[in-house]
Amino acid sequence: MWRGGRVSRDKLERLGLKVPVLPTTAVGSYPKFPYLLEARKKFLQGNLSREELLELERKATRDWIELQQEIGLDVLVDGEMYRGDMVTYFAENMDGFALSGLVRSYGNRYYRKPIIVGEVRWTGPITVDWWKFAQGLTEKPVKGMVTGPYTMMDWSFNEYYPSRRDACLALAGAIHKEVAELWRSGAKIIQIDEPAISARPEELDLAIEAMKRVVEGIDAYFIVHICYGAFEFIYPGMLELPVDNFDLEMSNSSLDLVELFRKHPFTKDISFGVVDVHSHVVEEVGLIEERIGKALEVVRPENLWIDPDCGLKTRSVQETIGKLKNMVVAVRKVRERLNG
Ligand SMILES: [Zn+2]
Repeated sequence: MWRGGRVSRDKLERLGLKVPVLPTTAVGSYPKFPYLLEARKKFLQGNLSREELLELERKATRDWIELQQEIGLDVLVDGEMYRGDMVTYFAENMDGFALSGLVRSYGNRYYRKPIIVGEVRWTGPITVDWWKFAQGLTEKPVKGMVTGPYTMMDWSFNEYYPSRRDACLALAGAIHKEVAELWRSGAKIIQIDEPAISARPEELDLAIEAMKRVVEGIDAYFIVHICYGAFEFIYPGMLELPVDNFDLEMSNSSLDLVELFRKHPFTKDISFGVVDVHSHVVEEVGLIEERIGKALEVVRPENLWIDPDCGLKTRSVQETIGKLKNMVVAVRKVRERLNG
């Protein structure tokens, strides 16, 4: 019934990645420290140089790496201190994009929506230096992290390609180059963020085709992050995405997905979201243990990773630390039970 377990553990071992059972990790973004928020404001007003801002982004990355190590996460992220929006950031660093005026997205967030106005091209490394910098600060593996082609396409206006498919596949080719560069630089765990993937179930095949282009020929452990989705429409079909691990928002949806997994067994590794990133409340250790217990009803321990539902950038630094700490304590308790 579960085909994934042995295979993915073998792959981690072959890649030289030593992670314990129930590896703990984070999805990607962390809140920006007050000093960085202040610096970004000053930079936009023209009162801080790019180099000064960069120095503070490095400091913030260092601070988050240290915090994650103190908390005891097993697989780290760089925290995305250098990013604003996850799509705009990549669009700004590729050829073929212009930016719109401010557009309102979920809630009260405003951002500049990318517009595809020409051939999309990767012109050089985007995240690679950040990955190298973060990985250079720790012995623990740091995930390489990019936004996926389907989400880039879905969240941009397209004024150049004849179809959504053409735009998506062009983006896949460009993002493949970024992923290949991360891998050549030593990233062994690479996460492709595709939050938009569940928005149009009829385009799931396109998302799968695009992902194949992204990962083609690259021997890394791949994670896809998908959140706030109508999973009932794309599951189990989404298991065809050519990745090793699905990082899913579970807790905000009251673990409804677990019921879906009872009907159609989950055949790959899963990074199971155990804390809600939309809530200020720091979940109690006991509640997180319960959620991990739910996961273990449908996934074997060797297939299970534990993390928050999504990026934590909208939480405060203290809330983020609180949530991660309780998550790690809960995982340690469950590990003890599994061992004993
Ligand atoms: Zn997410």
